[in-house]
Amino acid sequence: CGIVGVLGHHEVAPLLVEALKRLEYRGYDSAGIATVNGGKLDRRRAVGKLVNLSDLLVHHPLPGKSGIGHTRWATHGAATTLNAHPHLSGRVAVVHNGIIENFRELRSELTAAGAAFESETDTETVSQLLRHHLDKGAKPAEAARETLKRLHGAFALCFLFEGEEDLMICARKGSPLAIGHGEGEMFVGSDAIALAPMTDRITYLEEGDWAVLTRKGAEIYDEAGRLANRPEARIQVDA
Ligand code: GLU
Repeated sequence: CGIVGVLGHHEVAPLLVEALKRLEYRGYDSAGIATVNGGKLDRRRAVGKLVNLSDLLVHHPLPGKSGIGHTRWATHGAATTLNAHPHLSGRVAVVHNGIIENFRELRSELTAAGAAFESETDTETVSQLLRHHLDKGAKPAEAARETLKRLHGAFALCFLFEGEEDLMICARKGSPLAIGHGEGEMFVGSDAIALAPMTDRITYLEEGDWAVLTRKGAEIYDEAGRLANRPEARIQVDA
């Protein structure tokens, strides 16, 4: 239900939780964050209020300066820790707002190809599809492009990759997604409100857009894969 992503200069776990708190008004049943640190992906997830995730992080901190976070409003699969986002398949972590309408078809196709699913969510078909392409040797952006082509439904997505501390890929179709620009930092949020403490320089993705982010900036592509020029605006929201 809420998405946030940070390629930062500092530890991101507190920033991610803070940004998710700003999206609490949208409602949710569980929450989680993932970071890439020393090349390795790791995550923490908790059912219920964000305070449960914060408590978990006190006892099991999640270091890293690049990370993604999610508050989930379950549509497919019960509100359990296993179904909470981020979903992690091999070398990729995924957060998702919305619904992947053709997830059943994708799930049986991937299962037939050897994928072992850990959750009941529609979202895991996205992480497993990315994994499939990465395992075949695709680079992250290529794997993202191939994966996005296969997805039907309404979604906002954000991906983080093992071994890639300066890379985040996000996409939108039917669900809003904003990119935030910092000083050598980049942000993603399902809502500019989530990013308000970090930046007011916002670029909204348009329908079908996807973007490759590094700390230097964002390359935005339209649905046909053409480099797109989307305006940056100053969005003032009460921080
Ligand atoms: N359909 C996904 C799930 O149930 C995402 C729901 C959401 O937008 O939070 O896990």
